[in-house]
Amino acid sequence: MNLIVLQKHDFISPNRVRLSGRQLEHITKVHRAAPGQQLRVGLLDGQIGSGEIVTLDEKCVELEVALAIDPPQPLPLTLILALPRPKMLKRVIQHLTALGVKKLVLINSYRVEKSYWQTPWLQEDKLFEQCLLGLEQAVDTQMPEILLRKRFKPFVEDELPSLSSDSRKLVAHPVGGTACPVDIKQPTTLAIGPEGGFISYEVEKLQEAGFQSVHLGPRILRVETALPVLISRLFPAF
Ligand code: SAM
Repeated sequence: MNLIVLQKHDFISPNRVRLSGRQLEHITKVHRAAPGQQLRVGLLDGQIGSGEIVTLDEKCVELEVALAIDPPQPLPLTLILALPRPKMLKRVIQHLTALGVKKLVLINSYRVEKSYWQTPWLQEDKLFEQCLLGLEQAVDTQMPEILLRKRFKPFVEDELPSLSSDSRKLVAHPVGGTACPVDIKQPTTLAIGPEGGFISYEVEKLQEAGFQSVHLGPRILRVETALPVLISRLFPAF
């Protein structure tokens, strides 16, 4: 936890917060903090600053906070990701949030197992928890927006055109296409396939919607590896 993320309900007065639970545990066990110590804090979807410990006991900690710094710039990226298996989903959400993705659409695809859509990790509160872990890791406060789209064809035909309008459209696919561009600086919509890859029909539907197929060279990477490689290649300055 490189940032203590504050939520509106933590405030007991305009500049004072009271924290308990996981954050209290982190402050006492990891920081071994004491009254007077300054900690880095940030308001969810707001600014970052510092919090001075005013009182601390085994039930709660109170901090006097001053917020003045804007969070890091969001990536100019909308990510369209075929739903990963539940075990990987948690990690992927955390890592994407830490990398600065602010809009993520989890979609169905032929090679996504139907049972993946039943996982409790897709519930709103669970997704929120994983995003929070990513924000705490990356010292960011801006919560990503996550959309779930369980039908590939209606999504690509009816929703994707407006979602991706005015952006560069790329689909990461190991076969064919051109080398993934580097440092593109423009708003981008990027589609990434499931562990088994997009089938040809899906790549063709994305191409019909204006998506250019791009590859990362001859090595086929796991989704959790391909994601940071693609993002750091497209947006090295972020
Ligand atoms: N056998 C699958 C195939 O050939 O498409 C492999 C899929 S890969 C494990 C999962 C996803 O990661 C792919 O659908 C693609 O979006 C992305 N990916 C992995 N390696 C890639 C590469 N070398 N170039 C482009 N995309 C890649």
